[in-house]
Amino acid sequence: MRQCDLDFRRALLVLAVLPPLFAQTDLGRILPQDRALHLVALGDFGSGNQHQSDIAKAIARRHQQERFDLGITLGDNFYFCGVRSVTDSKWTTRWENLYTPLGIPFYASLGNHDYGRPVELCPVYRGSPEVEVEYTKKSASWRMPARYYTYAAGPVRFFALDTEGWSTAQFEWIKGALEKAVDEPGIRWRIVYGHHPVLSSGHHANERRIGVLRQQLGPLFQATKVDLYICGHDHSLEHLVWNGIDLLVGGGGGAALRFDTHPKAESLFSSVKFGFLDVKIDARQISAQFYDGGLKELDQHPMVRTR
Ligand SMILES: [Zn+2]
Repeated sequence: MRQCDLDFRRALLVLAVLPPLFAQTDLGRILPQDRALHLVALGDFGSGNQHQSDIAKAIARRHQQERFDLGITLGDNFYFCGVRSVTDSKWTTRWENLYTPLGIPFYASLGNHDYGRPVELCPVYRGSPEVEVEYTKKSASWRMPARYYTYAAGPVRFFALDTEGWSTAQFEWIKGALEKAVDEPGIRWRIVYGHHPVLSSGHHANERRIGVLRQQLGPLFQATKVDLYICGHDHSLEHLVWNGIDLLVGGGGGAALRFDTHPKAESLFSSVKFGFLDVKIDARQISAQFYDGGLKELDQHPMVRTR
């Protein structure tokens, strides 16, 4: 093979592993610094079943009680195999119809099912995470400027990870972004979210990827003063405190519940139920509560972090 062909192939390979050039990994500030935030977090929801619809309705009722400013998704946005294109009908039935009427933006993250994994569940097609990035241009409510990205809202800097597409490049990115945010003016809290837990008592607790993330992100989160990590993947609701960092699992958005558990000493609250996470943040405090489909507050001692 000629040298120039080899160089060309190498160049293509480099392009394939880099984020697309249009991907924007820092959205800057999306809401003013001097305001409190009320956010809804939901994970493992895109099943298209009655449970997804019930939890979507509960979120809408909660929004009527106390308006949300924004939402975040914790991945597995579309079961079982993700979306094929920006015109896939799942966008209408499993996203737009259920969440767009809230009138707030959702800053989404990717899960394994958005990649069409496990592959044995997806013999016909496997979804493309890039389609979920691309769809941002088409939706009033869906925001995914890149597979992983950061933004500031109120007194918080948020970091959305792509834990299914985990890589050395992404680790270097989050390390740089977190280090930059340690002394960022106007930022009181650093909140990271993504699909896989770094620690949980749920069905997936012993997965290899969770161990890898814990090993890599644990020391980084401590060094860069991360306050809270929010995730899904386990179809349950949980609050743990680990090395001084609050961990919340909010994977009760609609996919089938998994009742086998692996209880952890770090766990303060755990419940295998459909539900969502309600988080309030101001300059002095973060508080979080889990709600079920009947808007019952599930945690008797909800997470409170003060400064
Ligand atoms: Zn998952």
